[in-house]
Amino acid sequence: MKDETKCLHSGYTPENGGPSVMPIVQSTTYRFDSTEHIGQLFDMPTAHMYSRFSNPTVECVEKKLADLEGGVGAMCTSSGQAASLLSILNLCSAGDSFISTSTIYGGTVNLFAVTLKRFGIECIFVDAEAGEEEISRAFRPNTKAVFGETLANPALTVLDIEKFAKIAHEHKVPLIIDNTFATPILCKPISFGADIVIHSTSKYMDGHALQIGGVIIDSGNFDWTNGKFPEFTEPDESYHGVVYTRDFGKTAYIIKARMQLMRDFGCYPAANSAFLLNLGLETLAIRMERYCENAMKVAQYFKNSDKIAEVYYSGLPGDKYYDRAKKYLPKGSCGVISIVIKGGKENAVRFMDGLKMASNEVHVADIRTCVLHPASATHRQLTEEQLIAAGVNPGMIRFSVGLENVEDILADIEQSLSRI
Ligand SMILES: *Cc1c(COP(=O)(O)O)cnc(C)c1O
Repeated sequence: MKDETKCLHSGYTPENGGPSVMPIVQSTTYRFDSTEHIGQLFDMPTAHMYSRFSNPTVECVEKKLADLEGGVGAMCTSSGQAASLLSILNLCSAGDSFISTSTIYGGTVNLFAVTLKRFGIECIFVDAEAGEEEISRAFRPNTKAVFGETLANPALTVLDIEKFAKIAHEHKVPLIIDNTFATPILCKPISFGADIVIHSTSKYMDGHALQIGGVIIDSGNFDWTNGKFPEFTEPDESYHGVVYTRDFGKTAYIIKARMQLMRDFGCYPAANSAFLLNLGLETLAIRMERYCENAMKVAQYFKNSDKIAEVYYSGLPGDKYYDRAKKYLPKGSCGVISIVIKGGKENAVRFMDGLKMASNEVHVADIRTCVLHPASATHRQLTEEQLIAAGVNPGMIRFSVGLENVEDILADIEQSLSRI
């Protein structure tokens, strides 16, 4: 099936006479006929047991997301942050390190640089544009993963996924890609060598600003038996001696994430949340097309305006990442544009406050056009140095183009710019 079709048909197949729409299974628990059956489930979880870590409605969405990304399994989480956290904790323990590009979402920078550090896990930040040798030098014997964002929020840099996959694999560790902004409609990181893909589903996937959520998707391609990951190849005493690679083969990573981490952390979405997320997913493919079309027109408008100093949109000819976007994002560069207005922060605030239709809000990739000033909001906790590393200019505005008629979006921009 093609993506548009997967969005509608993957994950849930109605039985003869069954509901056409994926039902909400609103139940904490599941009933079994015998004590013995439940006992067996604790050895080998082949059915839903308890909704802290699995639920039939959420499972349908997980199957759809795995299918869209081309993975062998997926696990939903209650937020994108939880997906980032668990994707790392499934590989790293205290005393380990991992490598991340510095051009990533501000919340992830803080999670990696501050909170994981308190857990004894060190994140080594590298410049995404550094050469292979320089990035290779950052590896240590305890380095267990490499992390990057397809389209960085909010710098909108495009990651050379193949370069990072090659370097990670040379060092026998997996590449984790946060594919939130691109979505699997615009880019499928697994096809470029990524091993694990994560998302904040709160953005384009949900699409309607209804639900916070996240997901981790396993490509099934990484060889966990290469000697660097004993937690995958030795018996898990917390799970009756399960050996993930032996017992689950290609799905070792995602099953381990559920059986160990989701069991213990319990950041699983509710069935209702998955139902709403699924509504967003059903139209994801066609919505992404229109986001890209609208954003291209808005980016061109900004490019031609003498009040705008910089436009960052990799779909725009002349953008630093244009050629790379042609390879990784051939269908478009999503709806998010970053701009720097002439006159610094003062004019940035004036422009944002002057918008009548576009909302000033802490969100992005919404169905409605919205704007945010990263330096004073999502990236506020970062130091000046971290801001620069994350590609955030203090005067930068993140302009998230929605699905309104583009003429209305442009008229709103024009009336606000005219007052600067
Ligand atoms: C928003 C976002 C996150 C965090 O997701 P939440 O759902 O807000 O927890 C992670 N990565 C990227 C790229 C994001 O845009």
